[in-house]
Amino acid sequence: MNNFFLSFFISLLLCSYSLQASLSGIPGEIIAIKLNSNKNLNSYLTIEKDGHFYALVPMPFDKQGEYIKFQSESIFVTEKNFGESRITIENSSMVNLSKEDSERAFKESQLISNALKTYSQIYKSKLDFLKPVDGVISSRYGKKRFINELPRSPHLALDIAAPTGTTIIAPANGKIILTGNFFYSGNYLILDHGYGLLTSYSHLSVIEVSEGQLVKQGQKIGEVGTTGRVTGPHLHWTVYLNGTRINPESIIKENFLESIF
Ligand SMILES: [Zn+2]
Repeated sequence: MNNFFLSFFISLLLCSYSLQASLSGIPGEIIAIKLNSNKNLNSYLTIEKDGHFYALVPMPFDKQGEYIKFQSESIFVTEKNFGESRITIENSSMVNLSKEDSERAFKESQLISNALKTYSQIYKSKLDFLKPVDGVISSRYGKKRFINELPRSPHLALDIAAPTGTTIIAPANGKIILTGNFFYSGNYLILDHGYGLLTSYSHLSVIEVSEGQLVKQGQKIGEVGTTGRVTGPHLHWTVYLNGTRINPESIIKENFLESIF
């Protein structure tokens, strides 16, 4: 074999090796990355397994087909078709906003995004989340959305339909960092579970907690309702890790912790 072919085969081998060795993850999922040192353990949500610490890293929906960086690692976010959902909102003032409503919605979105930047060390989740409400999944994470046939942002949350008044519980210990009535989200609250893990709850009929309150896993925080922009009673549940919206169905599945390694 001449040198050209030899070097060609070697580079082919190296290339397939590096492809196999590279990390990848599905958009909306969390993957565990082994930390080489025990320094900076407070900078991420970590879990310990067999004497090693792993950082939990979210795979952003909007980075499909691209690499993201975590420390010295490059992680490839795979592409996934999550399907689509088409809804009709008959109240046109909820779709084509008046100047007043759009100013209100803009101010509220800033308030919410500031609250979502919270990074506390109030709790360290063991990632044993409970489902926050008993009901039927009516819209999954990642669906392309069309409202009255017009394309909108993807649905990066989980909708659980249940009758108005159904109890919503805290899926894990947390602190209530925001409550209020908002244009799109209706009666809404954000729970901080610590280390960049946060959850939010929209369209409630009743909020049973107040800002600053600490809540225990399983404690009632409110009731399902139809406040804000909705087509029927449901909980719109969003799970954030380091500002990335992850798939809420993943974090409540039975083998979640095994699935991230
Ligand atoms: Zn929703």
